Amino acid sequence: MLLTDDISYMKGVGPQRAKILAAELDIRTVGDLLLYFPFRHIDRSVRSTIAGLQDDNTLVVLKGVVSNMQTVTTGKFRERLTVDFNDGTGSLQLVWFAGTKWVREKLKPGVEYLIMGRPTRYNMQWQISHPEIEAYSYVDEGSRHPFLPVYNTTEKMKQHGLGTRALARITETLVDQLPTLSETLPDPLRLNFRLLSRNEALKAIHYPDSQAQLDAARTRLKFEELFFLQLDYQYAHQQRVTASMGRPLPHVGPLFNTFYKEHIPFPLTDAQKRVLREIHADLRSGRQMNRLVQGDVGSGKTLVALMSMLLAVDNPATTESDAANNRCQACLMAPTEILATQHFQTLSRMLEGLPVRIELLTGSLRPAAKKSIKQQLADGEINILVGTHALIEDDVHFKNLALVVIDEQHRFGVEQRAKLWRKATPPPHILVMTATPIPRTLAMTLYGDLDCSVIDQLPPGRHPVRTYHRTEPRRPLVFSFLKQQIDAGRQVYFVYPLIHDNPKLDLRDLEDGLEMIQSYFPRPQYQTSMVHGQLTAEEKAFEMQRFKEGKTHIMVATTVIEVGVDVPNATVIVIENAERFGLSQLHQLRGRVGRGAEQSYCILMTKDELSPNSRERIRTMCSTTDGFQIAEADLRLRGPGDIQGLQQSGVLDLRIASIVDDEPLVKATRDVVHDLLAEDPTLSRYPLLQQYIAHSKNKMLWSKIS
Ligand code: ADP
Ligand code: MG
Repeated sequence: MLLTDDISYMKGVGPQRAKILAAELDIRTVGDLLLYFPFRHIDRSVRSTIAGLQDDNTLVVLKGVVSNMQTVTTGKFRERLTVDFNDGTGSLQLVWFAGTKWVREKLKPGVEYLIMGRPTRYNMQWQISHPEIEAYSYVDEGSRHPFLPVYNTTEKMKQHGLGTRALARITETLVDQLPTLSETLPDPLRLNFRLLSRNEALKAIHYPDSQAQLDAARTRLKFEELFFLQLDYQYAHQQRVTASMGRPLPHVGPLFNTFYKEHIPFPLTDAQKRVLREIHADLRSGRQMNRLVQGDVGSGKTLVALMSMLLAVDNPATTESDAANNRCQACLMAPTEILATQHFQTLSRMLEGLPVRIELLTGSLRPAAKKSIKQQLADGEINILVGTHALIEDDVHFKNLALVVIDEQHRFGVEQRAKLWRKATPPPHILVMTATPIPRTLAMTLYGDLDCSVIDQLPPGRHPVRTYHRTEPRRPLVFSFLKQQIDAGRQVYFVYPLIHDNPKLDLRDLEDGLEMIQSYFPRPQYQTSMVHGQLTAEEKAFEMQRFKEGKTHIMVATTVIEVGVDVPNATVIVIENAERFGLSQLHQLRGRVGRGAEQSYCILMTKDELSPNSRERIRTMCSTTDGFQIAEADLRLRGPGDIQGLQQSGVLDLRIASIVDDEPLVKATRDVVHDLLAEDPTLSRYPLLQQYIAHSKNKMLWSKIS
């Protein structure tokens, strides 16, 4: 038997079931089936008794006989099946609410069954609903296996006789008949980490001899999975670093120096300096830079972005000429027009008096203005271009694009990054800025191909934002607190979630909120701005501007306000229905305050009753302002499936390892791959790994070769 053999030829499968396996689980070959791991095992040696049952909801295995089968009709098409189960020490009730016909046909009085499930106490009696059930004769036969595998199966599979037991029979044959499987991990590595051989692990993951062997098999397979994931990322990274030439930008010129000495009203933090040095080292290396800068909200990423762009602009594009239009160009891309506009204003102000041409290009610009900007860009007259996605449209041509800064990267797809690459030859250096910290385990895998810098320090004199959780009854107190703040000259935000996913209805929530707010804060004494998705870009910008200039005291907004908006005088953000926001979103929103010298506050308004998950999120927000801690909690609470940007990462396709639960293994494999590539960049001593690199992309070697 070979791993590549068609599954339909296996004993117990056949063409009909093969079709079902392919349709339901994408299992087509023997190798595919081998890689379909059980999610748990039944330990036949440990058996509970009904008399000994104690706790609700723990998984037990019981052996006994059934009697007294009863069907109760509970609705037009609904029925409930109850069966008594006795194991000699006592009896309990088995209950089915679905699939009753199948159970009725299958269960026979007097036959011994092994059942598995989670008993609960109901009216003083133990009951198990929808237990796994198997004739004891099957479970006991061939007693050489102390553990029986349990597989996930679908309804459709069960209907075609492919329940977990049937699958277990097939994998038993499979494991018995398999030839010795070849090894995929280098021997020294396997020995060093005391890993089972691949041959032993792949068999034992289905039919282990002992708990210890099962654990070892799981470890080995997780290790393998993470190892190859790391190899994919790190090898690609190394290739890029060694292969892709970038435009060398060696000069630190007058723009940068003058700006540094005369234009910044405050000293850079040590973290900002360090990150700038890292960026500069990249820019002059001659290799193309791909660097991710992580820095919590308010850590001063904009300044780092600007100074990096000045480093670029200081360099002539060609040595032949020192004409003004022969300088390298840089652009800064933001996810929304509000942000692009704000960046443009901030940067223009900071650059005042310096010979730098900076322009703003957004979708809502008038065609004539757009055309003129594009022309000047192509002529090299514009040094720095700020904008939204409009920057990467096909008809935008730079003369000498050397550096692209992408702010708040989580809104930008891989596609868009690739598009940027094609904007110049050699491809521009890329600097990605994000305020949404990535949990360590993710960063290790996801950004194996980016260099990372961290601005892990806030400018001096910042007070961490104080966060409070409040419910409706205390709203009057919240409002009177806001009044104090506004009367002391501060400004406040109110943020409403997108509740209905329907802009019209959402707007109504916002408008109801606005009415309530304005009844408490009457005009003309208190002025209010409102920003939401139904406004045009110009209207949004107008409202933002009034708030920024202090002409309004209160900003009522949906989450369009989320990213990057900078109004240092705003000291309170009230987040309505806070339970509806994800953690990283709450963290982003909170970052709108605490940007000036005054103590700032974040007030999370929720309803009284919260789900455990919501409660945990709110609790996390109230207890820490550390973005990394929040990111880790987010990953734990939501699972990786909901984290943006992970879809194409391969992280979600893992079969057995988990980047949430297997952090030590993630770290170990990352380090091992790193050392391996450092010592032997072409993997010349590891032909198998070379073969893997050559043949596979994010897919495990196991199923590819036997
Ligand atoms: P973010 O990292 O969230 O993008 P910003 O770049 O918007 O942060 O900076 C937040 C605020 O901190 C801005 O008002 C900026 O002028 C200010 N700032 C940046 N660097 C420093 C520094 N080294 N010292 C004092 N204030 C700084
Ligand atoms: Mg920012």
